[in-house]
Amino acid sequence: MDEARLKIAVQKVGRLTEPSLELLARCGLQLSRGKDQLFAYGENMPLDVLFVRDDDIPDLVREDVCDLGLVGLNVLEERRLALGGRCASLESLRSLEFGRCRLSLAVPKEFRYRGVRALAGLRIATTYPQLLERYLRERDVAAQIVRLSGSVEIAPRLGRADLICDLVSTGSTLEANHLTEVETVLQSHAVLIRTPLPLPPPKAEWVERILKRIDGVQQVRESKYIMLHAPRAALGEIRRLLPGSEAPTIIPLEGSTDRVAVHAVCRENVFWETLESLKKAGASALLVLPVEKMLA
Ligand code: ATP
Ligand code: ZN
Repeated sequence: MDEARLKIAVQKVGRLTEPSLELLARCGLQLSRGKDQLFAYGENMPLDVLFVRDDDIPDLVREDVCDLGLVGLNVLEERRLALGGRCASLESLRSLEFGRCRLSLAVPKEFRYRGVRALAGLRIATTYPQLLERYLRERDVAAQIVRLSGSVEIAPRLGRADLICDLVSTGSTLEANHLTEVETVLQSHAVLIRTPLPLPPPKAEWVERILKRIDGVQQVRESKYIMLHAPRAALGEIRRLLPGSEAPTIIPLEGSTDRVAVHAVCRENVFWETLESLKKAGASALLVLPVEKMLA
Protein backbone atom coordinates (compact mmCIF):
# COMPACT_ATOMS: atom_id res chain seq x y z
CA MET A 1 0.00 0.00 0.00
CA ASP A 2 1.09 3.53 -0.76
CA GLU A 3 2.56 5.09 2.41
CA ALA A 4 1.93 8.62 1.19
CA ARG A 5 -1.83 8.10 1.12
CA LEU A 6 -4.19 8.47 4.07
CA LYS A 7 -6.30 5.47 5.01
CA ILE A 8 -9.68 5.92 6.67
CA ALA A 9 -11.62 3.03 8.26
CA VAL A 10 -15.36 3.02 7.54
CA GLN A 11 -18.01 0.50 8.60
CA LYS A 12 -18.40 -2.13 5.87
CA VAL A 13 -22.14 -2.79 6.16
CA GLY A 14 -24.39 -1.11 8.66
CA ARG A 15 -25.96 2.07 9.90
CA LEU A 16 -22.79 4.15 9.62
CA THR A 17 -21.80 3.07 6.11
CA GLU A 18 -24.00 5.33 4.02
CA PRO A 19 -23.70 8.52 6.11
CA SER A 20 -19.91 8.03 6.37
CA LEU A 21 -19.55 7.75 2.60
CA GLU A 22 -21.91 10.68 2.12
CA LEU A 23 -19.78 12.84 4.42
CA LEU A 24 -16.61 11.92 2.52
CA ALA A 25 -18.35 12.64 -0.80
CA ARG A 26 -19.46 16.04 0.52
CA CYS A 27 -15.83 16.71 1.44
CA GLY A 28 -15.08 16.24 -2.26
CA LEU A 29 -13.80 12.66 -2.27
CA GLN A 30 -14.50 10.58 -5.37
CA LEU A 31 -14.04 6.87 -4.78
CA SER A 32 -13.61 4.01 -7.18
CA ARG A 33 -15.08 0.96 -5.56
CA GLY A 34 -15.79 -2.42 -7.04
CA LYS A 35 -18.51 -4.65 -5.66
CA ASP A 36 -17.72 -6.34 -2.31
CA GLN A 37 -14.31 -4.74 -2.17
CA LEU A 38 -12.73 -4.10 1.19
CA PHE A 39 -10.90 -1.13 -0.17
CA ALA A 40 -11.85 1.92 -2.21
CA TYR A 41 -9.35 4.18 -3.92
CA GLY A 42 -9.67 7.96 -3.69
CA GLU A 43 -9.41 9.22 -7.24
CA ASN A 44 -9.00 12.92 -6.60
CA MET A 45 -7.50 12.97 -3.06
CA PRO A 46 -4.68 10.93 -1.45
CA LEU A 47 -7.29 9.27 0.78
CA ASP A 48 -8.37 5.63 0.54
CA VAL A 49 -11.19 3.87 2.38
CA LEU A 50 -10.89 0.54 4.18
CA PHE A 51 -14.24 -1.18 4.84
CA VAL A 52 -14.28 -3.08 8.15
CA ARG A 53 -16.55 -4.09 11.07
CA ASP A 54 -17.26 -1.05 13.18
CA ASP A 55 -15.97 -2.77 16.34
CA ASP A 56 -12.53 -3.12 14.71
CA ILE A 57 -12.19 0.57 13.89
CA PRO A 58 -10.76 1.88 17.21
CA ASP A 59 -7.97 -0.72 17.19
CA LEU A 60 -7.16 -0.28 13.49
CA VAL A 61 -6.61 3.41 14.17
CA ARG A 62 -4.88 2.93 17.52
CA GLU A 63 -2.48 0.43 15.98
CA ASP A 64 -1.82 2.78 13.06
CA VAL A 65 -3.17 0.41 10.38
CA CYS A 66 -5.46 3.29 9.44
CA ASP A 67 -4.77 6.99 9.93
CA LEU A 68 -8.41 7.95 10.45
CA GLY A 69 -11.67 6.23 11.33
CA LEU A 70 -15.39 6.96 11.43
CA VAL A 71 -17.05 5.15 14.33
CA GLY A 72 -19.80 5.47 16.94
CA LEU A 73 -18.83 7.16 20.22
CA ASN A 74 -20.39 4.12 21.93
CA VAL A 75 -17.88 1.76 20.28
CA LEU A 76 -14.98 4.15 20.89
CA GLU A 77 -15.78 4.65 24.58
CA GLU A 78 -16.34 0.94 25.21
CA ARG A 79 -12.95 0.14 23.68
CA ARG A 80 -11.28 3.00 25.54
CA LEU A 81 -12.58 1.69 28.88
CA ALA A 82 -11.55 -1.88 28.01
CA LEU A 83 -8.01 -0.69 27.29
CA GLY A 84 -7.78 1.22 30.54
CA GLY A 85 -4.85 3.63 30.77
CA ARG A 86 -3.21 2.26 27.63
CA CYS A 87 -5.20 4.35 25.20
CA ALA A 88 -5.06 7.99 26.20
CA SER A 89 -4.30 8.39 22.51
CA LEU A 90 -7.67 7.21 21.19
CA GLU A 91 -9.03 10.65 20.75
CA SER A 92 -11.96 11.93 18.74
CA LEU A 93 -11.16 14.83 16.40
CA ARG A 94 -14.72 15.76 15.53
CA SER A 95 -18.26 14.95 16.66
CA LEU A 96 -20.39 14.22 13.63
CA GLU A 97 -24.07 14.73 13.06
CA PHE A 98 -24.98 11.19 12.08
CA GLY A 99 -25.28 7.87 13.90
CA ARG A 100 -27.27 9.45 16.71
CA CYS A 101 -28.47 6.95 19.28
CA ARG A 102 -28.27 6.35 23.01
CA LEU A 103 -27.18 3.46 25.16
CA SER A 104 -30.10 2.94 27.51
CA LEU A 105 -31.42 0.71 30.25
CA ALA A 106 -34.74 -0.89 29.32
CA VAL A 107 -37.02 -3.08 31.41
CA PRO A 108 -39.79 -5.53 30.44
CA LYS A 109 -43.27 -3.92 30.32
CA GLU A 110 -44.42 -5.71 33.48
CA PHE A 111 -41.29 -4.64 35.45
CA ARG A 112 -42.02 -2.06 38.17
CA TYR A 113 -39.09 0.31 37.78
CA ARG A 114 -38.14 2.12 40.98
CA GLY A 115 -34.90 3.86 40.00
CA VAL A 116 -31.32 2.76 39.38
CA ARG A 117 -30.56 2.00 43.04
CA ALA A 118 -33.29 -0.65 43.08
CA LEU A 119 -31.41 -2.60 40.36
CA ALA A 120 -28.95 -4.06 42.88
CA GLY A 121 -28.74 -7.83 42.57
CA LEU A 122 -30.49 -7.94 39.18
CA ARG A 123 -29.03 -9.26 35.90
CA ILE A 124 -28.51 -6.77 33.05
CA ALA A 125 -27.77 -8.08 29.54
CA THR A 126 -25.58 -5.96 27.26
CA THR A 127 -22.96 -5.91 24.51
CA TYR A 128 -21.44 -2.85 26.25
CA PRO A 129 -20.18 -4.29 29.56
CA GLN A 130 -17.56 -1.57 30.13
CA LEU A 131 -19.90 1.38 29.71
CA LEU A 132 -22.53 -0.34 31.83
CA GLU A 133 -19.99 -1.23 34.51
CA ARG A 134 -18.86 2.39 34.76
CA TYR A 135 -22.45 3.62 34.92
CA LEU A 136 -23.31 1.22 37.75
CA ARG A 137 -20.06 1.88 39.62
CA GLU A 138 -20.62 5.65 39.52
CA ARG A 139 -24.03 5.09 41.08
CA ASP A 140 -22.80 2.51 43.55
CA VAL A 141 -25.19 -0.16 42.28
CA ALA A 142 -24.10 -3.81 42.54
CA ALA A 143 -25.93 -5.45 39.65
CA GLN A 144 -24.76 -8.44 37.63
CA ILE A 145 -23.65 -7.73 34.06
CA VAL A 146 -24.53 -10.47 31.54
CA ARG A 147 -22.19 -10.03 28.55
CA LEU A 148 -23.78 -10.98 25.24
CA SER A 149 -22.52 -10.65 21.69
CA GLY A 150 -25.91 -9.78 20.17
CA SER A 151 -29.72 -10.11 20.34
CA VAL A 152 -29.74 -8.41 23.72
CA GLU A 153 -33.40 -7.41 23.42
CA ILE A 154 -34.64 -10.99 23.71
CA ALA A 155 -32.53 -11.84 26.79
CA PRO A 156 -35.29 -11.06 29.33
CA ARG A 157 -37.80 -13.29 27.51
CA LEU A 158 -35.27 -16.11 27.41
CA GLY A 159 -34.79 -15.76 31.15
CA ARG A 160 -31.14 -14.79 30.76
CA ALA A 161 -31.53 -11.34 32.29
CA ASP A 162 -33.98 -9.15 34.21
CA LEU A 163 -33.39 -6.07 32.05
CA ILE A 164 -31.11 -4.88 29.24
CA CYS A 165 -28.67 -2.11 28.36
CA ASP A 166 -28.73 -1.56 24.60
CA LEU A 167 -28.60 1.02 21.80
CA VAL A 168 -31.83 2.82 21.01
CA SER A 169 -32.67 5.39 18.35
CA THR A 170 -36.41 5.43 17.66
CA GLY A 171 -37.41 2.93 20.32
CA SER A 172 -39.36 0.74 17.89
CA THR A 173 -37.15 -2.32 18.52
CA LEU A 174 -37.73 -1.96 22.27
CA GLU A 175 -41.47 -1.55 21.68
CA ALA A 176 -41.56 -4.68 19.48
CA ASN A 177 -39.89 -6.61 22.31
CA HIS A 178 -42.19 -5.23 25.03
CA LEU A 179 -39.41 -3.25 26.69
CA THR A 180 -39.54 0.26 28.18
CA GLU A 181 -36.56 2.61 28.20
CA VAL A 182 -35.85 3.89 31.72
CA GLU A 183 -32.35 5.46 31.84
CA THR A 184 -29.77 6.82 29.41
CA VAL A 185 -26.25 5.48 29.96
CA LEU A 186 -24.58 7.33 27.04
CA GLN A 187 -25.70 9.76 24.32
CA SER A 188 -23.90 8.71 21.16
CA HIS A 189 -23.16 9.88 17.62
CA ALA A 190 -20.46 9.13 15.08
CA VAL A 191 -16.97 10.56 15.64
CA LEU A 192 -13.83 10.98 13.55
CA ILE A 193 -10.75 9.49 15.21
CA ARG A 194 -7.08 9.64 14.23
CA THR A 195 -3.89 7.68 14.79
CA PRO A 196 -1.90 8.64 17.89
CA LEU A 197 1.31 8.72 15.81
CA PRO A 198 2.48 11.96 14.22
CA LEU A 199 1.84 12.11 10.48
CA PRO A 200 4.41 13.26 7.89
CA PRO A 201 3.70 16.82 6.66
CA PRO A 202 1.81 16.03 3.43
CA LYS A 203 -0.54 13.65 5.24
CA ALA A 204 -0.97 16.01 8.20
CA GLU A 205 -1.88 18.81 5.81
CA TRP A 206 -4.52 16.65 4.18
CA VAL A 207 -5.99 15.79 7.59
CA GLU A 208 -6.24 19.54 8.31
CA ARG A 209 -7.92 20.14 4.95
CA ILE A 210 -10.38 17.32 5.54
CA LEU A 211 -11.22 18.67 9.01
CA LYS A 212 -11.92 22.14 7.55
CA ARG A 213 -14.15 20.58 4.91
CA ILE A 214 -16.02 18.51 7.51
CA ASP A 215 -16.62 21.70 9.51
CA GLY A 216 -17.89 23.37 6.35
CA VAL A 217 -20.20 20.46 5.54
CA GLN A 218 -21.61 20.44 9.07
CA GLN A 219 -22.13 24.20 9.06
CA VAL A 220 -24.01 24.40 5.80
CA ARG A 221 -26.55 21.72 6.67
CA GLU A 222 -28.77 24.21 8.42
CA SER A 223 -27.46 27.36 6.76
CA LYS A 224 -29.49 29.42 4.32
CA TYR A 225 -28.74 32.41 2.15
CA ILE A 226 -31.50 34.97 2.44
CA MET A 227 -32.19 37.94 0.13
CA LEU A 228 -34.86 40.58 0.62
CA HIS A 229 -35.77 44.20 0.00
CA ALA A 230 -36.45 46.46 2.97
CA PRO A 231 -36.95 50.11 3.95
CA ARG A 232 -33.75 51.57 5.44
CA ALA A 233 -35.71 52.55 8.54
CA ALA A 234 -36.59 48.91 9.23
CA LEU A 235 -33.01 47.57 8.99
CA GLY A 236 -32.50 47.33 12.75
CA GLU A 237 -35.63 45.26 13.25
CA ILE A 238 -34.86 43.07 10.21
CA ARG A 239 -31.33 42.28 11.37
CA ARG A 240 -32.74 41.25 14.71
CA LEU A 241 -35.14 38.84 13.01
CA LEU A 242 -32.52 37.12 10.80
CA PRO A 243 -31.70 33.83 12.58
CA GLY A 244 -28.02 33.37 13.41
CA SER A 245 -26.68 35.76 10.80
CA GLU A 246 -23.45 37.75 10.77
CA ALA A 247 -23.28 41.29 9.34
CA PRO A 248 -25.53 41.30 6.26
CA THR A 249 -24.61 42.93 2.95
CA ILE A 250 -26.70 46.05 2.27
CA ILE A 251 -27.03 47.07 -1.38
CA PRO A 252 -28.76 50.23 -2.67
CA LEU A 253 -31.67 49.65 -5.05
CA GLU A 254 -31.63 51.43 -8.40
CA GLY A 255 -34.21 54.25 -8.47
CA SER A 256 -35.01 54.12 -4.77
CA THR A 257 -33.58 56.19 -1.94
CA ASP A 258 -35.29 54.58 1.04
CA ARG A 259 -35.31 50.88 0.06
CA VAL A 260 -32.26 48.59 0.02
CA ALA A 261 -31.51 44.95 -0.74
CA VAL A 262 -30.29 42.82 2.18
CA HIS A 263 -28.27 39.62 1.64
CA ALA A 264 -27.28 37.46 4.61
CA VAL A 265 -26.11 33.97 5.50
CA CYS A 266 -28.24 32.53 8.29
CA ARG A 267 -26.59 29.79 10.34
CA GLU A 268 -29.98 28.36 11.28
CA ASN A 269 -32.90 27.19 9.25
CA VAL A 270 -35.26 29.92 8.06
CA PHE A 271 -38.86 28.98 8.79
CA TRP A 272 -42.08 30.36 7.30
CA GLU A 273 -42.75 32.12 10.62
CA THR A 274 -39.48 34.06 10.27
CA LEU A 275 -40.38 35.11 6.71
CA GLU A 276 -43.81 36.24 7.89
CA SER A 277 -42.26 38.33 10.68
CA LEU A 278 -39.76 39.86 8.22
CA LYS A 279 -42.61 40.77 5.90
CA LYS A 280 -44.49 42.38 8.77
CA ALA A 281 -41.38 44.43 9.54
CA GLY A 282 -41.50 45.85 6.01
CA ALA A 283 -39.46 43.35 3.94
CA SER A 284 -40.53 42.32 0.45
CA ALA A 285 -39.19 40.14 -2.39
CA LEU A 286 -37.99 37.53 0.09
CA LEU A 287 -35.87 34.69 -1.24
CA VAL A 288 -34.25 31.83 0.74
CA LEU A 289 -31.57 29.70 -0.91
CA PRO A 290 -29.71 26.60 0.33
CA VAL A 291 -25.97 27.00 0.88
CA GLU A 292 -23.87 24.35 -0.81
CA LYS A 293 -20.36 24.92 0.49
CA MET A 294 -18.79 27.17 3.13
CA LEU A 295 -15.14 27.64 4.05
CA ALA A 296 -14.24 29.70 7.09
P1 ATP B 1 -20.86 -4.55 12.48
O1 ATP B 1 -20.27 -4.86 13.84
O2 ATP B 1 -21.08 -5.76 11.65
O3 ATP B 1 -20.08 -3.51 11.74
P2 ATP B 1 -23.17 -3.58 14.03
O4 ATP B 1 -24.33 -4.52 14.11
O5 ATP B 1 -22.31 -3.40 15.23
O6 ATP B 1 -22.30 -3.93 12.73
P3 ATP B 1 -24.92 -1.31 13.35
O7 ATP B 1 -26.17 -1.89 13.94
O8 ATP B 1 -24.92 -0.97 11.90
O9 ATP B 1 -23.60 -2.15 13.65
O10 ATP B 1 -24.58 0.00 14.20
C1 ATP B 1 -23.42 0.72 13.96
C2 ATP B 1 -23.43 1.96 14.83
O11 ATP B 1 -24.54 2.78 14.47
C3 ATP B 1 -23.63 1.73 16.31
O12 ATP B 1 -22.43 1.37 16.97
C4 ATP B 1 -24.11 3.09 16.77
O13 ATP B 1 -23.01 3.98 16.94
C5 ATP B 1 -24.93 3.58 15.57
N1 ATP B 1 -26.41 3.50 15.75
C6 ATP B 1 -27.29 4.49 15.49
N2 ATP B 1 -28.55 4.14 15.78
C7 ATP B 1 -28.50 2.89 16.23
C8 ATP B 1 -29.49 1.95 16.69
N3 ATP B 1 -30.78 2.25 16.74
N4 ATP B 1 -29.08 0.72 17.05
C9 ATP B 1 -27.78 0.38 16.97
N5 ATP B 1 -26.81 1.24 16.56
C10 ATP B 1 -27.14 2.48 16.20
ZN1 ZN C 1 -20.45 -3.76 15.51
